[in-house]
Amino acid sequence: MDGIILLGAPGAGKGTVADDLKARGRFLHLSTGDMLRDAIKAGRPLGLKAKGYMDRGELVPDEVVAQLIEERLDESAKDAHFMFDGYPRTTRQAEMLDEALARRGGKILNVFLLDVARDLLIARIAGRRICRQCGGVYNVNNANMRPKIEGVCDRCGGEVYQRSDDNEATVSNRLEIFQSKTRSLIEFYEKQGKLVSVDAEDRFKTLEAILAHLSGPR
Ligand code: AMP
Repeated sequence: MDGIILLGAPGAGKGTVADDLKARGRFLHLSTGDMLRDAIKAGRPLGLKAKGYMDRGELVPDEVVAQLIEERLDESAKDAHFMFDGYPRTTRQAEMLDEALARRGGKILNVFLLDVARDLLIARIAGRRICRQCGGVYNVNNANMRPKIEGVCDRCGGEVYQRSDDNEATVSNRLEIFQSKTRSLIEFYEKQGKLVSVDAEDRFKTLEAILAHLSGPR
């Protein structure tokens, strides 16, 4: 059991890169944001605990997200390869993830830091739409990323909607939290020699850079 981490601000393209990598079949996508939204939809107590934090754009307590990750690791095959999207977001979570994988004989291979200018992040979040069913990512402000039929997922026919926390007030809070927490996370993974910075302004170049690194020597 091992994995890579997609690290980046809201709107950096973690979900989009995850979609692209998923299509190649190697990695299982594990997004704590998606898992929390599912827990809320299912009315789980853990989801109710998380909802207030999410609505305010704040981080959900470390133990809550760590519990979701543990559950998912337990359900997965012992030889699974994961891509963690939106997790970890704090050094405490990073430590817990290392421990959780080590207990299962695994480790993090690489951490890809998706680098995008703030203006572009804000524009991407404003246009972002998500499929309620499969989590597919769309963007109504980008001709190459609009669903073919408005409001309908190209892949599964699910409803394509705008996340309630993708609004202006919440977004600036989420970007600030990302800035304040990320520096120590970056240091954590730099010390381990696992951090790879990727210019993530262009979807296809981002994927190429990640794939080149994954197939290169380690
Ligand atoms: P995301 O879908 O990754 O943008 O996450 C949406 C929201 O879920 C965040 O603004 C947080 O409130 C919460 N969340 C997702 N992942 C985490 C995490 N690893 N730690 C704490 N909160 C999280």
